[in-house]
Amino acid sequence: MEQVDTLVIGAGVIGLAIAARLSKHSEVVLVEQGHHFGEHTSSRNSEVIHAGIYYPSDSIKARTCVEGKAQLYTHCTEFSVPFARIGKVITAQNTQEEEKLASLLQQAQNNGVDDLCWLSKEQLVQKAPQINAIAGLYSPSTGIVDSHQFMLSLLGQLESHQGQYVSRTQFVGAVPTANSFAVKLDCDGTPFELRCRHLVNAGGLFAQHNATLIEGLQPIHVPAIHYCRGQYFSYQGSHPFKHLIYPVPEQHGLGIHATLDLAGQLRFGPDTQFIDELNYETDGTALEAFYQAIKRYWPNVDKRRLQLDYAGIRPKTQRQGQQDFQIEGKSIHGLAGLVNLFGIESPGLTASLAIAKAVEAQLVAEHK
Ligand SMILES: Cc1cc2nc3c(=O)[nH]c(=O)nc-3n(C[C@H](O)[C@H](O)[C@H](O)COP(=O)(O)OP(=O)(O)OC[C@H]3O[C@@H](n4cnc5c(N)ncnc54)[C@H](O)[C@@H]3O)c2cc1C
Repeated sequence: MEQVDTLVIGAGVIGLAIAARLSKHSEVVLVEQGHHFGEHTSSRNSEVIHAGIYYPSDSIKARTCVEGKAQLYTHCTEFSVPFARIGKVITAQNTQEEEKLASLLQQAQNNGVDDLCWLSKEQLVQKAPQINAIAGLYSPSTGIVDSHQFMLSLLGQLESHQGQYVSRTQFVGAVPTANSFAVKLDCDGTPFELRCRHLVNAGGLFAQHNATLIEGLQPIHVPAIHYCRGQYFSYQGSHPFKHLIYPVPEQHGLGIHATLDLAGQLRFGPDTQFIDELNYETDGTALEAFYQAIKRYWPNVDKRRLQLDYAGIRPKTQRQGQQDFQIEGKSIHGLAGLVNLFGIESPGLTASLAIAKAVEAQLVAEHK
């Protein structure tokens, strides 16, 4: 049976970042069930490099977002991945929302994000013409990135370290043996087995299902999965935006915000809706809700220019309240060499390089 140091399940941005990092010092195989890498959540998001403002102090999200943002900007420069540090404005429409902005400012400072600027109504007019708000917060370290090129650069890193990436190959089971796992793969219809010392489950929306295929992993260590769809509308034609524009955040997402891609195309979204099955179908009836949400901060929006675009799905582990990233190694579930990643929703793209570092640290710690 072929033997490798590490098998990483799933070539989204998280699996790619982990495989690229681990391959610097060990032999890594990265398997992807689809035809191409990054076909799920990693190519169905806002492509925003988040500053780290919103997340509770001491959460894994806060730590990996702030650390990952710095690493991502450095990586993009080093590997010529297109990005732009265009900044974002979070807007308040009334005094209640202004209070929320003040608490966001405090939360950001607690998270080590100390470059936010408070914008008065007059300053807002300069920063974001046509935006209707009584106050705002400006985040200069927020940016946008070409997520496909970013993933391609990680794949390049993996391959330059002699790591292997295999598409159309599905993880279908693992049995822990002394110091390793006997792993079963389905390579485009052909069964294949290999042995690995480390097994990293970066399956995104499928991570919980993958975890149930690992013998010896107690069900208590497999959290629930709830699919929370977020859809986008693109905006045809010209617009006045130079920065990303956000409302104050809502319960399950950051609110229907205005993002730009690197070509200057304006998009709005994502909304939030829990769905029962994993599918990326979009729903045009959301147009009116989008229009009303955008009109609050951009009264001049022309409804006829909003066009239904794509949808992404958040891997929620709970339906209520704040959830954190779960990066679970032996200290949590007791199986040496296994790391499961659950609930890697936003800001996972931003945090990916820091998450990879955290996975490596967990595996290294096991050998001490
Ligand atoms: C609507 C939306 C907007 C977002 N916006 C942002 C943003 O602006 N900024 C930001 O930082 N983050 C954002 N995020 C979060 C970010 O996109 C995700 O955190 C990140 O893409 C998750 O990557 P992943 O690799 O965990 O998952 P995925 O990209 O889903 O990759 C998992 C991969 O594993 C493969 N796989 C699963 N099981 C198996 C198996 N058994 N065998 C082989 N392969 C398998 C799948 O096919 C898939 O390719 C957003 C998320 C959503 C949903």
